[in-house]
Amino acid sequence: MGVELAYTDAVAQATRGLYAKVAAVIPAMEWPVHAPLIDAINRLKREKKAVILAHNYMTPEIFHCVGDFTGDSLALAREAARTDAKVIVQAGVHFMAETSKILSPQKTVLIPSMQAGCSLAASITGADVRLLKQKYPGLPVVTYVNTSAEVKAESDICCTSGNAVKVVEKIAADFGTDTVIMIPDKYLARNVAAQTRVKVITWEGACEVHERFTAQQIRDYRSANPGIVVLAHPECPPEVVAEADFAGSTAAMIGYVGTHHPERVILITECSMSDNVAAEHPETQFVRPCNLCPHMKRITLGAILHSLETMTTEVVVDPVIAMRAKSPIDRMLAIK
Ligand code: SF4
Repeated sequence: MGVELAYTDAVAQATRGLYAKVAAVIPAMEWPVHAPLIDAINRLKREKKAVILAHNYMTPEIFHCVGDFTGDSLALAREAARTDAKVIVQAGVHFMAETSKILSPQKTVLIPSMQAGCSLAASITGADVRLLKQKYPGLPVVTYVNTSAEVKAESDICCTSGNAVKVVEKIAADFGTDTVIMIPDKYLARNVAAQTRVKVITWEGACEVHERFTAQQIRDYRSANPGIVVLAHPECPPEVVAEADFAGSTAAMIGYVGTHHPERVILITECSMSDNVAAEHPETQFVRPCNLCPHMKRITLGAILHSLETMTTEVVVDPVIAMRAKSPIDRMLAIK
């Protein structure tokens, strides 16, 4: 490794302001482990004209201390496309890096671990989508952004967990149908179906983090923490969403905490997000269920530094697939 990684006075000085951002969630005795890596990454990314996209499920030392843009996968890819950076480092999982490449074909997109996959993205292939289209001819295919580029390329429109109901209704109207195919998340599809008259045919995919939550767990959290506000992600099973006070995307949950300032809250989603939001909202007490995404957790400060030093691993999307995959994303973005 070409960079000196010691917690020197200079490193302590350079990272003091960053520690202030995460002091509520990272103990002081841990900081000397993170600080030299953070300092090295921040220097190297300036040298290489790189930006780091940090997903909401990254750990706080990544999210708050090296991320140039933070948020959900689509917002990150859109922000990166607007910058004049030459290099994008995706602190997230592989399908997110593909989306960044689709929206920024001229930039070099790096992912610090090629093993950072996703149970939703892995549940379906482009060939599966072609078979679905043969089975249900004429029905539009609505594809959650948590999918590979080749799956997006076979789709009519993409959706996020925030806009899924609107997208389903719009594409059904455009196709003059009362039924859509919505892939690959069976729980998101059921949660959407509960909010619209459009019928939804779905796929057997699930997020391995959100599907582990149960309705009984939510009831237990409520009885142990009277008055707590429960916010759930729509990738959770419908019976979990039914127990929540509010269901929404990661961005919507962050917005809820920022707007309502609940005294006590529980975010039914990947556990690093609670740390990241808690760091910015000391007025709110967070009860933290810990369902970790093993794929997201492959992205560490050490892996990011190595990625920048060696310019690996570059994410490549076949230009024809990228062009076809961009079209359903653009169609979604055109919906007001
Ligand atoms: S949290 Fe779920 S949807 Fe997100 S990357 Fe992990 S497995 Fe995939």
